[in-house]
Amino acid sequence: MTEAPDLHLRWSDSKDASGYVNDLAGSAEQVAADANEPADTLALAVTAAIASEGLGKALGHEWAIYTPQDAAVVASAINATLQGSVENLRLLEQAVRHIAARGDVSIPAPSVSGEDTLADALDRLTGAADEIQAHLKLLRPAIRTLDASPCTYQAPQDVHATVMAVAALLGDQAKTITNLEDCRADQGDADDPCGCVLEISAPGERYFFDYSDGGWSLLRHGAAVTDAEGNMSWTGSSRLDVKDAIVHPHQLVEQIGRIMDVDASRA
Ligand SMILES: [Zn+2]
Repeated sequence: MTEAPDLHLRWSDSKDASGYVNDLAGSAEQVAADANEPADTLALAVTAAIASEGLGKALGHEWAIYTPQDAAVVASAINATLQGSVENLRLLEQAVRHIAARGDVSIPAPSVSGEDTLADALDRLTGAADEIQAHLKLLRPAIRTLDASPCTYQAPQDVHATVMAVAALLGDQAKTITNLEDCRADQGDADDPCGCVLEISAPGERYFFDYSDGGWSLLRHGAAVTDAEGNMSWTGSSRLDVKDAIVHPHQLVEQIGRIMDVDASRA
């Protein structure tokens, strides 16, 4: 049997690859490094809870992940969160015993009347930790399988490739209205706008689709204000919810279709 991937290493990879992960995790890491008083303990506990609840919200989205390897990283992080939580339940039990040792609370003997005492509560903490621990080993083979699963999705390499992939998916409905010779795909980073604009046709309407100013936008031709020189401008937001430059082209097409449907239903 092959070894499970080094889980901690896998998140380090994700952290190195994405400044976004670093930005988000950085301040929690800083607090964790120096944590030695209640303010740190409570801040880290609340942050962990917020991150866990937020992850649930993110995973509830249809486009939460693109590949089984993404799933493996998330599964290994959840595994580590559960492992950490098991250990933390035990450490919390010890921490309450430290409070008692200082004389700031007394721990009465376990109740015989069925009413929960502090001793019962501490017993439950460690009991729950033992129970979760027993189930955790079931996760490792699942993570291995996710990580090793072949994936056919080829992510676009830059903004231009994403725009062209969207055009290909839309077929006759889309055409590039800018000169491909003017495309700046080779001049910047993969997530820099390349300048290419698609015109997408829908029944009774036309749209302009491009990536600029750090986001994807879809401008409805009929919503434009045209000045005396014939220059078009738009008011209001034309941004798609998707912001990543290297996004799954199907996800963009789905969002474009949804916006067109809404516009059509209002027409
Ligand atoms: Zn381009």
